[in-house]
Amino acid sequence: MSAKKIVILGGGESGVGAALLAQAKGFEVFLSDKGSLKDSYRATLEAAQIPFEENQHTEARILAASEVIKSPGIPATVPLVEKLRAQGTPVISEIEFAARYTKARLIGITGSNGKTTTTLLTYHLLKTAGYNVGLAGNVGDSFAAQVIDDTFDYFVLELSSFQLDDMEQTHLDVRVLLNITPDHLDRYGYVFQNYVDSKFRILQNARPDDTFIYFAESQPIQTELAKRNPAIAQLPISLENPVEEGGYFLDNTLTAIRNGHTFQMPQAETTLRGPHNAINALAAILAAQSVGVSDEAIAEGLRTFANAEHRMEPAGTIRGVRFINDSKATNVDSVYYALASMDAPTVWIAGGQDKGNDYSQLANLVRQKVKALICLGVDNHKLTDYFGPVVPSIQETRSVEEAVSMGLALAEPGDIVLLSPACASFDLFRNYVDRGNQFKAAVKNVLAGNT
Ligand code: ADP
Repeated sequence: MSAKKIVILGGGESGVGAALLAQAKGFEVFLSDKGSLKDSYRATLEAAQIPFEENQHTEARILAASEVIKSPGIPATVPLVEKLRAQGTPVISEIEFAARYTKARLIGITGSNGKTTTTLLTYHLLKTAGYNVGLAGNVGDSFAAQVIDDTFDYFVLELSSFQLDDMEQTHLDVRVLLNITPDHLDRYGYVFQNYVDSKFRILQNARPDDTFIYFAESQPIQTELAKRNPAIAQLPISLENPVEEGGYFLDNTLTAIRNGHTFQMPQAETTLRGPHNAINALAAILAAQSVGVSDEAIAEGLRTFANAEHRMEPAGTIRGVRFINDSKATNVDSVYYALASMDAPTVWIAGGQDKGNDYSQLANLVRQKVKALICLGVDNHKLTDYFGPVVPSIQETRSVEEAVSMGLALAEPGDIVLLSPACASFDLFRNYVDRGNQFKAAVKNVLAGNT
């Protein structure tokens, strides 16, 4: 009998990992990417002698697959994927494929915002406890590549809605849903409910003894849960009320209760700040408790966690003015939480490529916290129109260096200069990482006395 033919669409981190796993499992593998591959991925495929093509999709070869693993970046609506589905060929995600080959227990984390922070923190808590744990999904190395030698007991997986869309059979022991706010609607026919449904795939194949951790004050989550009433242990997280089982953040203290056992810690003792990070921290604590991590390890992990760059990252202090790099805040909701966590008058740097932003959500907070707005973008009219009547001073620039020096001029010792753009970065930068790095470099430059 001839080997099952696996075709992989997309040659990024997940696609190349899936190709290596498929080969290790004895399948006939072919990888196809419509664009060009990164040199390192091309070299990996060549070294493993896995056949692949770049800058094209050879349709006949792809349609002959027994199963297709699709990169999350490829929409389900491209004609090739529609043809595959129409002829009954299964199209799955790398997560779904890799999950077949691991005996590890899986913790899956999704949400519109906070996924990476919560995933990294959960991973850190399990690691601190000495667990044999892997990190994968939307962050870090490919899940598939890591299950070739299936050595981990646990995996913490960051799951985007696109990854969830192509998962059917995967079983997650612990499931986390942080929030649902409009994002990526272009991939969901501009219908918010479709996006909600996609996020709720986090509950697929739920068993009563699995754990579901979610933010209870997210309206879309509340509404959808009431409709579905899933049979699964539910641990809500609240910023407003104590809960019997689950987590809450009141009096600046994190409280997590699991099976009647309470863990408590003032947020100031953790390395994360702000109400949004309280939600993330509580989700991670509850996930860790769910797999038996001790209070001591959780406390130690919360004290030692270093978040990924560009998320409320301290970028330096100049003449008593704190600079914070939140370049990853590319939508209005994440800026809301960034501003909410400001504990001093703030000069806010925002702007970039607008994603259909509605700023009304921010008006009150901006009135309370923001003394000046610096627009860092090519077209700032939406920001200046909306915040003109709200903020005492608005300036515009296209240069990060200038934004930093303007910020310093507008701030007094004790104030904060916050880069939290609410917009995509592609008008002036390669991506949000580039924007954040340039911001940090500009602050360093001033500190070094070079300007
Ligand atoms: P994701 O991986 O989902 O994009 P990150 O952890 O990278 O999320 O955080 C992205 C941005 O979203 C951060 O800069 C922060 O300002 C904001 N953010 C983080 N957690 C939350 C949350 N729970 N709710 C709302 N916004 C958040």
